Amino acid sequence: MALEAEIQSIVQQFEYSDGDVNNAVKEFLRQMDEGLGKDGTSMSQIPTYVTGVPNGTEKGLYMAVDLGGTNFRVCSIQLLGNSTFTHTYNKVAIPKHLMVAKTAQELFAFLASEIKKFLEEHHSEDFEHHIRRRKTVSSPSGFRDEHIFRMGFTFSFPVKQVGINKGTLIRWTKGFDIPDAIGKDVCALLQAEIDKLHLPVKVAALVNDTVGTLMARSYAAPGKQGSVLGAIFGTGTNGAYVEKLSKLKKPLSGEYDQSTGEMVINTEWGSFDNQLNVLPSTKWDVALEKDSLNPGFQMYEKRVSGMFLGEILRLAIIDLLNNPNVSLFKDENSSSNDRGSVTIIAKDSGLYKQWGLDTAIMSTAELDQDAELAGLRQALENTLDVYAPAYEDAMAFKKIAHAIGRRAARLSAVAIGAIVLQTGKLDDPELKDEPIDVGVDGSLVEHYPGFRPMIYEALSVIDGIGEEGAKRIRIGLTQDGSGVGAALIALVAAGME
Ligand code: ADP
Repeated sequence: MALEAEIQSIVQQFEYSDGDVNNAVKEFLRQMDEGLGKDGTSMSQIPTYVTGVPNGTEKGLYMAVDLGGTNFRVCSIQLLGNSTFTHTYNKVAIPKHLMVAKTAQELFAFLASEIKKFLEEHHSEDFEHHIRRRKTVSSPSGFRDEHIFRMGFTFSFPVKQVGINKGTLIRWTKGFDIPDAIGKDVCALLQAEIDKLHLPVKVAALVNDTVGTLMARSYAAPGKQGSVLGAIFGTGTNGAYVEKLSKLKKPLSGEYDQSTGEMVINTEWGSFDNQLNVLPSTKWDVALEKDSLNPGFQMYEKRVSGMFLGEILRLAIIDLLNNPNVSLFKDENSSSNDRGSVTIIAKDSGLYKQWGLDTAIMSTAELDQDAELAGLRQALENTLDVYAPAYEDAMAFKKIAHAIGRRAARLSAVAIGAIVLQTGKLDDPELKDEPIDVGVDGSLVEHYPGFRPMIYEALSVIDGIGEEGAKRIRIGLTQDGSGVGAALIALVAAGME
């Protein structure tokens, strides 16, 4: 009984009411506007110099690389011009030591070596052809222009973009910490390492993965209007949307095409409300914050994204384990003296380590509707070394995980809803009954059962959207958007050379 009461108390602390959602939407709109007006605000609202979204007719062979968090992806994309494409890709985990390397060069040299491997593996003919050509041609890079792969570089960290292939790193997030890289142009860092390996590759565009998601979605699902927003809910969270140039008040330093009257804005919404005006803050959010690499920053992301949800859950579970009134994950068959006090958790369980609980198990918990919770209990044993957990204990874990996931989905609706309102498209008489398209990507939104339905539920209570408006918002998965999206931006950039 004590356990049940404690769980209810924890679950209740993760509740985020309809009123909370509406307050947060108002604050989100305010912070968006502030970011469009000047630099140095909580939400950076970064101009991307991309001034339109594709319509599905684009063609050509491009490369794309993606440094987004947990993995580095390298791919080549053949755009077929009919809203479809073919692609080939490699994916490699970023070695942990490179995420906190002494110099930026160490990380970027690794990335260039992976690009080389990819070319050798998948484009060996083109690649050798390039190498032969290089010996006979005297262009600055040593390659004929038509033999150089244009590459979009998806780099999903806060960057001050000053041109389509130029941008300096503002700060690291998601567990990266290489101070040497701050303030440097990340395209130049990568190009330097590519050139050292004599690869026929030009870093043509600096792409945020959210912008890529938006472009990919617009290419694949062209409606009358294209997509209005691309959003990521993976290791981190962020969104990019199409804004009217007239609302973008801060000065721009680079060149861009003004004819469309629009520009894609990378919101960097992970930093929404770093001041905690409207974001919820439980004691577990506070505990996570205290031990995080970047206290005070990415406060929204820390309540929404895959990297953090598991850690919030872990901290709540640890509290329960330390609570003398509660018996959780204890050996009920131990001798009568210590009955209920011997733990069934292995000493080196991830439950006892910071970041030791992967958010993926929250999906397992959510998915498990079995009367015995057999799947979740097995997962607790396999991934967290909790041996033969009782049904009640697994249920406690499931309820807390659900509360944290639900809060994250409702907070996600705040960002999506605010941006849909910002575009004004729901009220545009010309778009009556047209869907308002939103492309999403990331393991959380892809794999967490019920994440999108929970977003919709919260969207429908937002003033100015309501149930009818929520029905018109079409949230669609865009898989590998950072690949094809980056290729599309490289294509746009090549056109501007
Ligand atoms: P990235 O954002 O790094 O490109 P992903 O979109 O795959 O990559 O997101 C990885 C994050 O998603 C990790 O934080 C991981 O804990 C979390 N994750 C992985 N699988 C799942 C899952 N099935 N359910 C919920 N979260 C997951």
